[in-house]
Order: sequence, then C-alpha cells, then structure tokens
Amino acid sequence: MTTPAAARNTPYWWEDAPPRPLPERALPKSADVVIVGAGYAGLSAALTLARAGRAVTVLDRMNPGEGASSRNGGITSGNIRLGFDQLRRRYGEERALAIEAEGKTAREFLRDMIRAEGLDCDFQQTGRFYGVIGAREYEAAARSAENLHRKLGIESFAVPHAEQRRYVGTDYYRGGSVRMDIGGLHPAKFHAEILRITLAAGASVHSGIAVTGIEGDKGRFRVVTSGGELAARQVLVCTNGYTDGAAPYLRRRLVPVRSRMIATEPLTPEVMDRLMPRRMMVGEGKVLGYYYRPSPDGRSILLGGRDATQSGDSAHPTIMLRQGLIELFPELEGVTLSHSWFGNVAMHQDMIPRIFEHKGLTYATGFCGSGVVWAPWIGNRAALKLLGDDAARSAFDMRPPPFVPLYAGKPWFMPPLIQAYRLQDRIALARAQR
Ligand SMILES: Cc1cc2nc3c(=O)[nH]c(=O)nc-3n(C[C@H](O)[C@H](O)[C@H](O)COP(=O)(O)OP(=O)(O)OC[C@H]3O[C@@H](n4cnc5c(N)ncnc54)[C@H](O)[C@@H]3O)c2cc1C
Repeated sequence: MTTPAAARNTPYWWEDAPPRPLPERALPKSADVVIVGAGYAGLSAALTLARAGRAVTVLDRMNPGEGASSRNGGITSGNIRLGFDQLRRRYGEERALAIEAEGKTAREFLRDMIRAEGLDCDFQQTGRFYGVIGAREYEAAARSAENLHRKLGIESFAVPHAEQRRYVGTDYYRGGSVRMDIGGLHPAKFHAEILRITLAAGASVHSGIAVTGIEGDKGRFRVVTSGGELAARQVLVCTNGYTDGAAPYLRRRLVPVRSRMIATEPLTPEVMDRLMPRRMMVGEGKVLGYYYRPSPDGRSILLGGRDATQSGDSAHPTIMLRQGLIELFPELEGVTLSHSWFGNVAMHQDMIPRIFEHKGLTYATGFCGSGVVWAPWIGNRAALKLLGDDAARSAFDMRPPPFVPLYAGKPWFMPPLIQAYRLQDRIALARAQR
C-alpha cells in the first residue's frame, strides 16, 4: 500500500536552509537605491551597488528567499524559451546573437561568482540531458547541439536512443542531447550565501517590510512601506513572480505561473545508478516538459512541472507529478514522496527576461522559470545600469514588455491554457515517430 501525497508540503531545500527573518532594525530615512525584493535578482543588484559605494536598502515583504529563490530546482539552465530563429525574426540577427552569447556569459558569471566568493551551495557542473519524443525532434536536438558547439564552443552532443540509458534510465525518450555547461546547485543555500555576502558588503536588507507604493520620479522617489517611508534617488523592482499592487505597471505585464516540485524519499544507490547514472540534470522537449535532477547528495530524485491550481495546496497536482515520474521510471511504482511544494515563476508575454525602465523606475524581471542563471546576472546588469556604466549594457535591456490583455493580476486563463498545452503535448506524442 503506497501513499501518493507527500510527507511534507514545504520545499525539500528548507530542511537544510530555511528562509529566516533578519534581525529587526530601523529603516533608514533615505537611501541612494531602494530595491524591492530580496531574491537572487534583488540581492545580486544590491551586492554590486553596495560594493560600488552606494547606500542600498533592500525590502522584502516575506523572509528573504521565501519567493522562488529558495523553492526552485537549482538547475543552472539559463534557458531562453525562444529558439534562435524566433529571436532573429523578432529582434534581428545582431540582438539574437547577443542574447544567445549572453546566456553563455551569464552561466559563466554564476560559476565564477560561486567560486570567487566561496559560496557553499553544492554546485556541481554535471551537464544536462535533454530528452525528445520522436525521430524528427531528435534531428532538431542534434542540430541544435552541433550549433551550440560550433557557434559558442559549448561542449554539447547528440545522444541516440540506443545510448540514452547511459545518461538517464528511461525508455520514454527517443534520444536527446547533452550539454555540459549546465549543472545543479542547492537553491536555498545559494540564496543564503548571496545574502551573507550582500550583508557583508554593507547593504541594508529588511525582511517582513512590504512596499505598498512608490511615488515621485527619477532622482526623487518616496517609497511607502508597511514599516514607514523612505526617500530614494533610484528604485529597482525585483519582485518577479511575487509582484503585487505596489508595482501595478509590472503586474499587468507579467504573469505568475505555479511550478510544483516533488522529492522522492531516498532511493538505494543501485536504483539511483540505474535511473540517473551520471547524476545529470534532465529537461524535456515538450511544451509542458518536466525538469528533474538528483538531490545534491545523490539519494533522491526531485521532479518539477506546471501546477494548474491557483489557490490552496491540494494533493491533486502532487499525484499528477508522481504519475509523471512513474511514467518515466516504472520501477518507482511504489515510491513515497518526502516533499511536495510550489512557487511562482514569472512570464512576460514575449518570454524574454529583461531590464527596463518606466517613469524613472527600473525593473529586472521575467525569468520564465530559468532565474537561477538569469536573476543574478540581470540583477548585476541592472545595478551597473543604475551606476551609469554604459559599457556593461545587456542585450536584455529593452523596452517594457507588452501588457497582457484582459489581465490585472489574477491569471484566470492559466488553468485552461495549461490544459490546452497538455493536450498539445499528448497530440505531439501520438504523432511522433517513435
Ligand atoms: C518550483 C520552481 C522551480 C524552479 N526551478 C528552476 C530551475 O531549476 N532553474 C532555474 O533557473 N529557475 C528555476 N525556477 C525559477 C527561479 O526560481 C526564479 O526565476 C528566480 O528565483 C527569480 O528570482 P527573483 O529574485 O527574480 O524573484 P524571487 O526570488 O521570487 O523574489 C521576489 C521577492 O519579491 C518580494 N516582493 C514582492 N512584492 C513585494 C513588495 N510589494 N514589497 C516587498 N517585497 C516584495 C517577494 O516577497 C519575493 O521574496 C523555478 C521556480 C519555481 C517556483
């Protein structure tokens, strides 16, 4: 007899590194820069600004990291949802190339930051296997691996179906590709470590302080919060999937989408050797693909995917993910789950992360479920922009994202959209040459 729902409804990562409130301290009357949101993006920006000598105050309405930055899969994908041809059609050849190249730089930035700062966050550059469902998709994945290698010098290669079990112990895919510039880290430890060095750099970080309004314009802002008001010369909004009414312009342009993860109870080394022989990260070529990985200690499998629910924390999406896991690995039929949890990822309508300005405010948001790489990088670039460093301009420094029609903050259209994507994936699977 097995129990399908999980033992705990909190993130697996919080066992080692739970987000905690910071010691209470008075808000300053003013700051050079106020940053709203103390996830990876806000802290990375604060670190850069504080080290450049700016007086920085970071405000978070929850405990720092309690948003997506301690809940994610820790896969350092730096993914952009649009392919190169789509990027070229939309932005032209030059910017498309710059976006692609910046992904490589951003992954290197993350790796170098972890090494240079000595961040203790279980980072391992394991490589990532990307599984596909049919022969045509395999050819596309092989071409894309070849392009990555040729254009950017990234170690990447195709894996035919016959060799797939050397990378992941399933017959579900019809081959795939591997790229070695992606790995995994412990997301909550990574956040705690960035917080540690940001505080050491002199930034003033406050937990449990909600920004409720931002008034004024460039050079003279008044930031209204649950703990009082403060003046700021510059304001950077890094609220991503947890954006609320304090940033109404952003809220109409960014859709929070639930992503859920499950963790298995520890499996035996023999099972892990069969299912995840290289302990690699795994992604899938589907609209609603799963992402999964071994835990840093190599004993459990953590798998994530979309969650169509919008409130509460029902058992249903956990059961759905568990079924997905068993479809991939039938030998896990009787597996019990230690954890199931969710968080919000943030989607702009055009699926591109970015830095932008509106009415003097600067925003760094829209990481589309790939913020482990993008949020620290874009946060750093946004800080350099505020410092007036034109040489550090990013290809993601763009016009504001388009507003989402018929949307004012509650994504009512997500459940039917997710059902439609599921159907699209089922049709693609039925039509694939397998
Ligand atoms: C389940 C899940 C799995 C994921 N897996 C991966 C993965 O494997 N790889 C990957 O690259 N990415 C993944 N992501 C995405 C990644 O976690 C995010 O892109 C990243 O953490 C975003 O960081 P951030 O700093 O922009 O936002 P967050 O960490 O979400 O921080 C935003 C903060 O803003 C604060 N805030 C909002 N409004 C206010 C206000 N009015 N006043 C004060 N504070 C406010 C919130 O409290 C919150 O702490 C995943 C996300 C989820 C939810």
